[in-house]
Amino acid sequence: MTPVYVDLSHTLDENIQVYPGDPTFSCCLVLTLAKDGNNVHSISLGSHSGTHVDAPYHFLEDGSKIDEIPLAAFVGNAVVIDVTSKSAKEHITWTDISPFADLISRKASLSEGVFVFFHTGWSRHWQSPMYFEHPFLTQDASQRLVDLGVKLIGVDTLSPDETLVDGGMPDFGVHEVVLGAGALIAENLTNLEAIAGGDWLVSLVPLKLKGCDGSPVRAFAWPATA
Ligand SMILES: [Zn+2]
Repeated sequence: MTPVYVDLSHTLDENIQVYPGDPTFSCCLVLTLAKDGNNVHSISLGSHSGTHVDAPYHFLEDGSKIDEIPLAAFVGNAVVIDVTSKSAKEHITWTDISPFADLISRKASLSEGVFVFFHTGWSRHWQSPMYFEHPFLTQDASQRLVDLGVKLIGVDTLSPDETLVDGGMPDFGVHEVVLGAGALIAENLTNLEAIAGGDWLVSLVPLKLKGCDGSPVRAFAWPATA
């Protein structure tokens, strides 16, 4: 029987939103069937385009690069925390997470370890200015998650930290805590409601980009019991 796979990825197209200042995405046909006998595209993108994973090197000069991280780090048991009640720019705090602490600890002890995903529902704003106004985690909450043994924190937003679009120096406290602990971050996830209940494994395997600080991924989930 074919397993049920749940796609947690946005489609990469020329209109995707990127983090303020990041390179834009393009995918252009450069060889064609008519002229060249086959279709080949040229792809241009930033390492944080669309649904992607951040490696520790994103914020730490001596942190692991995306090609140096073992494949096992990119597969984990999902805990999805519903924070869809959060408004624009609202904090996600330990109070929102603490009811899940026992579940997180239990799944952290399973062989694949645990990924914690925050389902804000903000992926519905993808491609609109509201997407930048997402809720975000407190540094304290991220520290406690890392202390529980969480190996990846994922969000259906542009960042687990606040995103500033009008300049100013953003606070990257969550990035610094999570990546500083050697854990990973996944951003721009979507469809997290599809894995809100039950036991799911999630794959976030990146491209093997030498020396790179992150990579787009095709994020997907399947039932842990399958
Ligand atoms: Zn990123």
